[in-house]
Amino acid sequence: MNKNILVIPGDGIGPEVTAWGKAVLAQIATNFGHEFTFDEALMGHAAIEATGSPLPDETLDKAKKSDAILFGAVGHALYDNDPSLKVRPEQGLLKIRKELGLYANLRPILLFDELLNASSIKANILKGTDILFFRELTGDVYFGEKTRSEDRNTASDLMIYHRYEVERIAHKAYEAAMKRNKRLCSVDKANVLESSRLWRETIQEISKQYPEVETEHMFIDNAAMQLIKDPKRFDVVLTANLFGDILTDEASQIAGSMGMLASASVGDGTGFFEPIHGSAHDIAGKNLANPLASILSVALMLDISFGLKEEAKVVLNAVDHVLKEGYRTNDIADGSTNPYHVLGTQEMGKLVLKFIAEKAVTI
Ligand code: NAD
Repeated sequence: MNKNILVIPGDGIGPEVTAWGKAVLAQIATNFGHEFTFDEALMGHAAIEATGSPLPDETLDKAKKSDAILFGAVGHALYDNDPSLKVRPEQGLLKIRKELGLYANLRPILLFDELLNASSIKANILKGTDILFFRELTGDVYFGEKTRSEDRNTASDLMIYHRYEVERIAHKAYEAAMKRNKRLCSVDKANVLESSRLWRETIQEISKQYPEVETEHMFIDNAAMQLIKDPKRFDVVLTANLFGDILTDEASQIAGSMGMLASASVGDGTGFFEPIHGSAHDIAGKNLANPLASILSVALMLDISFGLKEEAKVVLNAVDHVLKEGYRTNDIADGSTNPYHVLGTQEMGKLVLKFIAEKAVTI
């Protein structure tokens, strides 16, 4: 299979982890006789420094022409500490999602048994958890009108949804639920928000087309609590942009660390694959970042964008194998980890690559 893959490393730990995602893709191509051609482009702070724009036209052009995109993260302490800056790294990410029509963000909460003790939640509550989040990505307060009064003392962000935006992601989520355990929980705040009432009304309508799927509606505050109390009760969770952003960071603790969670953003064109974490300036350049979320994002790319299920399984099994052998990065190490098995970004990436290259892991 021939594919053109655009790599957008971004800022902070983005380049450190994406290098390993790319290396894994190249190794999979070698093992399975595929031809993956890589190109690279700028986004975020790196792009602002080089061109003045967080998403240069060249990046967008390359993105539109590629078959899939592997992304790292954007962000820099400079902007976090100065909210008044007008040109910001995250604008690049929001724009590319909009331009590529990436309306559904899939975040599987994949729980490796070896990491049951890395979570701050008790292992007996976590064991058996398998959740697939669908976070809407192109609406909500992120894209609604933003205002600030002349005296700068009042501000607002418009929470806005159109019916078609809810419908299209709902179909994707129901189709996924049909292939899983046929349970879908739609999360909203319909007791307070009008946009949530439209959300719920739309899901209620669409649910009639999927009678085999058991649909549940839950308020965001309750969902945040249930996720920690009894994560096993969830199968597919469908929610809006802001609620999904927050809930999936919370859910990352189920998987042990932000460094373990991959995501796929899809619409009707090129897919976009990235870890859920940000640029993590606190650990950037220190060889401390966990590269497994980027590597797991590659597994999602192989499966979802290219339909290469066997190749995706090899990547997943390689990660599982490394963890079973007791190797950990700092963020997922616990009291029982042999200190000699605590690896840096580079060493962890090399180890996963080695297992794939030696074909130590098959399906
Ligand atoms: P973050 O995800 O960057 O980091 C949160 C915490 O998790 C930090 O303590 C960090 O060290 C840790 N962490 C994150 N990824 C890790 C990994 N792979 N291995 C080990 N530890 C990891 O979130 P933040 O600190 O809130 O934001 C930092 C910057 O990232 C900000 O500028 C923010 O705007 C940006 N951000 C970007 C994205 C994105 O590009 N998709 C997402 C979230 C935040």
